[in-house]
Amino acid sequence: MAQRWLLPTAVASLSLLALATPAAAARASAPAAGRAHCSAGARTLSPPGSHLYPETGNGGYTSVHTAVHLVYDATADMFLPGSHVVLTDRATQCLSSFSLDFERHSANTEAGPDMTVHAVTVNGRPAHFAFAQPTYPGDPHGPGDPNPAAHEASQNDPVGGPKHNPLPPACSPELRSGARPDALNGTQCPADKLVITPAAAIDEGAAFTVSVSWTGRPGVHNDGDGSTEGWFRSSDGGFVTTEPVGTEDWMPLNDYPAAKPTYDFYDTVTAGRTAICNGVLVSVRHNRPDAEFPGGSTTWHWHSRAPVASYLVEDSIGKYDLTERTADNGIRYYEAQDASIPAAQQQKNLAIMKQQEAITAYESQFSGAFPFTSDGVVIGTPPASFEEEMQTMITFAGGTIGLSVFYHENFHQWWGDNVTEAGYAMTFYKEGMATMAQDLLAARQAEDKAGGPSSRTGQAAFQATLVRAFDQTWAKRGAFWSVAPSNPAPYELFGNAGTYARPAAAYLALRQILGPTDFTQAMEHIQRHYRGGHITEPELEAAFHQWMPNRSGACQAQLTDFFHQWFDTAYSAGHRPTITGPGLSGPGFYNQTGGCSPGV
Ligand SMILES: [Zn+2]
Repeated sequence: MAQRWLLPTAVASLSLLALATPAAAARASAPAAGRAHCSAGARTLSPPGSHLYPETGNGGYTSVHTAVHLVYDATADMFLPGSHVVLTDRATQCLSSFSLDFERHSANTEAGPDMTVHAVTVNGRPAHFAFAQPTYPGDPHGPGDPNPAAHEASQNDPVGGPKHNPLPPACSPELRSGARPDALNGTQCPADKLVITPAAAIDEGAAFTVSVSWTGRPGVHNDGDGSTEGWFRSSDGGFVTTEPVGTEDWMPLNDYPAAKPTYDFYDTVTAGRTAICNGVLVSVRHNRPDAEFPGGSTTWHWHSRAPVASYLVEDSIGKYDLTERTADNGIRYYEAQDASIPAAQQQKNLAIMKQQEAITAYESQFSGAFPFTSDGVVIGTPPASFEEEMQTMITFAGGTIGLSVFYHENFHQWWGDNVTEAGYAMTFYKEGMATMAQDLLAARQAEDKAGGPSSRTGQAAFQATLVRAFDQTWAKRGAFWSVAPSNPAPYELFGNAGTYARPAAAYLALRQILGPTDFTQAMEHIQRHYRGGHITEPELEAAFHQWMPNRSGACQAQLTDFFHQWFDTAYSAGHRPTITGPGLSGPGFYNQTGGCSPGV
């Protein structure tokens, strides 16, 4: 997403989080009789000690495919009976129970969800279900730890808070807008883990289906930075923009970036409303009036054959004007705008939306072929505090679209969407890439002005623009370098230089170190190798190591130091990374003979 602008302090009181007792969590995790060799799946995918949304993700299985069936009354903003998801998963261990993420209620009583689960089946048979609090990752006492301190929220590890809890956090605080970052440190985490115990254990390696039926009003999640995301109410339906964890505020799922099932969406909605989802539109069926929809309804079927990360699932429903066209290379482009946007603004928006094919072609020069069969944009009206790179269907909030942010979000289709970060601590990896795309736009504009890409003056202007972008970032002082990009707290994850400008500058320096050709080769290699999956920080760095022109041990060691400085180091005032790249401000990477002597 583009860097968030946080809304001013809301005049709202802080209501208490919904609590579940640890005892209830313990009951929910009790193994059924006769399954001694099987065990419960982990209730988090976060590594031990994580303080970025450690409550999310679920282990013991992988997510293969999800069919979303919404029955949505757009006037009332309600999911009606018949709403359900069918998750196809594959067990990676013998499972006595497993979990999903689903936030039915939240402390946000105005815009938060209010939903009820009615039934869960596993392989068609009714299954027991209960909601439990998360437990901090790595708790040796397991998910049912009776110690209340094992289920507390915090920005930090350890929790701290009024009782000086020495344990890691079990969840990130759900702050209200304007609240102090530490306001909820030491409070209990809400019971958002949907723990499912099937009638029979699931064998290791077996594929199984889970159906969850629910009704109610979807809503937004309050993040660790006080912003909200999820299902935003609009005047004629809903607008979905969800990073990092808000998908669980409208649908139960394995809510973790590395969990990437493919999707089908079958949304039955009030007649006259349009459903906008990931992938391609397969069919639109008009249904006769019935008790639930006296004015009739429409069923929209979208299909994504590419896997979709948890925070990139799109399902906006409202009075959207939707158009589609197929480019010469076969990629389908969708454009959707909320019909309530004034006509003059819609025309302005359209002029920018129409550039998506050209933007995609340009960005392909740096990342390789576009990874999906479709691409698109949906412009909604709710004042969500950010734009987001929903896979193949980028969301713009507030009724407008801007060109530079469009370059940012479209570049995410490769970086974040096709190749997803392995966990939240790697958000900088894809935000740095997308921020670099905005530099690439500025470079392109300078190049065009100076004679175009085939002229020497144009090429020089292109290069000079990127060098200047790096130098401007490197010249920053003060708190700019104080957060290690790979270790932010939740309250600063989407609002600090460490997530955006600093890694973008690092990539620009890396381009100088490797040279433009090898840099692009490395980028394309990563896209091919990790296509449809996710990447860890060591894997990312190893890929760039492979494309170093000078592969001496000293230069490889220098590159290791470079990554450590730029991605993993929090600097005190007056300090910053010291290794840059050839032609950039600061000490270069190579010595005068093209090698890497220690200390250079
Ligand atoms: Zn972004």
